[in-house]
Amino acid sequence: MRLLLQHGVSRQAEQRPGSPAVVYQGAVMSYGELEAASNRLARLLRASDCARGDRVALMVPKSPDAIVAMLGTLKADCVYVPVDTSMPAPRVAKILHRSGARWILATGAAAPLVCTLFSDGTLSQQRIRVGWLGARSEGEPGFAPDFSRDEMSAHSAEARDYENGAEDAAHILFTSGSTGEPKGVVITHSNVLHFLDWALEYFGICASDRNSGHPPLHFDLSTFDVYGTLTAGAQLHLPTPELNLLPHKLAAFIRDSALTQWFSVPSILNYMAKFDVVRDDDFPALKRLLWCGEVFPTPALIYWMKKLRHVTFTNLYGPTEATIASSYHTVATCPEHEDDAIPIGRACGGEELLVLDEALKQVTQGEVGDLYIRGAGLSPGYWQDPEKTAVAFLPNPYSTDAADRIYKTGDLARVNENGLVYYVGRADSQIKSRGYRIELGEIEVALNSVASLVEVAVVAAKTDGFEGTVICCAFVPSPGSGANAVALRKTIGAVLPAYMLPTRWMQMDKLPKNQNGKIDRRRLKESFERGEDQVAIV
Ligand code: AMP
Repeated sequence: MRLLLQHGVSRQAEQRPGSPAVVYQGAVMSYGELEAASNRLARLLRASDCARGDRVALMVPKSPDAIVAMLGTLKADCVYVPVDTSMPAPRVAKILHRSGARWILATGAAAPLVCTLFSDGTLSQQRIRVGWLGARSEGEPGFAPDFSRDEMSAHSAEARDYENGAEDAAHILFTSGSTGEPKGVVITHSNVLHFLDWALEYFGICASDRNSGHPPLHFDLSTFDVYGTLTAGAQLHLPTPELNLLPHKLAAFIRDSALTQWFSVPSILNYMAKFDVVRDDDFPALKRLLWCGEVFPTPALIYWMKKLRHVTFTNLYGPTEATIASSYHTVATCPEHEDDAIPIGRACGGEELLVLDEALKQVTQGEVGDLYIRGAGLSPGYWQDPEKTAVAFLPNPYSTDAADRIYKTGDLARVNENGLVYYVGRADSQIKSRGYRIELGEIEVALNSVASLVEVAVVAAKTDGFEGTVICCAFVPSPGSGANAVALRKTIGAVLPAYMLPTRWMQMDKLPKNQNGKIDRRRLKESFERGEDQVAIV
């Protein structure tokens, strides 16, 4: 029986306790070790007054310990909230507040962030307790945790009897929100298990696989890496984040780890192509290369397909709200032209893609419409936010079943004569930059709270760099305020993560307006694309 995400991993631990489960920086954690450590952590959490359904924020950088923390939380019948520990403390505080987290599990590099949250009062005001999972070699964390890693050994390594069921939340993933508040997407055990049922079979993932774990654990793609790999009894190889800046070393990582599956956002693949780090017939063990999260530029795909003729290439598409991926397209032959569009393909098992007009009627073949998703991957909604949930998750107009819902992705799409779906663009101001999902509105909210500005607008401009899209800010300073790009970037850098900070800036006397008197964002975007901005700060 596989009702909960942890069941598949435990079954593998029973069958192959000594086999490698997670490999990181040369250290190997076996299935048996992973199972025992996560069972002990689950028991320690429960013994520490952590109750079923409690949210546990994970501030554990990607490592075997992070996988233990994820599984341990699930095994305590709790819900984990992975937190990007490189974010400024005020945004982390918002996520802790919105998720109603009762616990934080933290290690290593997260210690200074936790110290800040202690000293700014966030943890005491929100009554959040902290479990320190750091190793002894890391020394004292600089704060007094409610428990520490050493206490795990006092608890049994046997699995608990779980109270949760498949429809209970497994994790909450926070994404950028246009109103300035991050949105928490609730993902249930069954959401992920349905995707795994399809993906493990379609890709034929098995115990001999050696899969990459490239995306950060707060990206929903990582859920496939972790549970897809560990449910199959395969090996999960985690690259260190520093490798992202070193394309040669990332290629060496794939080669030396003899990976059989690579899965990431396209920007890193594009980056590797730009630095030409892949040799002819490189990575002989690699069987599958999968990407998801944004458009993979066709010239870079051609580069990869020409280099690796022994590999299968699959485009996966889907928003966090529909769990990992909702559609797929395996590219049968290398595209001939650099401007060939690659379809997002057909729905994965248990999912349905609908391209509808404003009246929620199916558009005709070839016509562009709004893309909706229906199926087993659909999240129950945004955490404790019925209003936002009602706007994005609608009753299925073709069903009389009130529980049958469709999710409005905000993407525009068309369907060709063979029933293949093509992604056309966005209907709103959500963008992807280096794989990060960003609402330009969240950046504008931060800028609008800066007193020294009269007007400000944030737009995204296309580039041919690996980041694909750059964030650009046009602003009008208050007279005599002396506001400038460097100072503004510093100010909003205290509340927004680095990947959301505009890199291109234009100071103006007034912002251009359209006929309705609204800021003419299209004109601004074109100005940036023509390179009319004055300041670039990376
Ligand atoms: P996220 O929630 O971070 O997974 O972002 C979801 C959004 O990323 C989708 O709504 C699309 O706009 C975009 N996206 C995801 N996969 C693809 C893909 N294969 N091709 C183009 N855009 C994609």
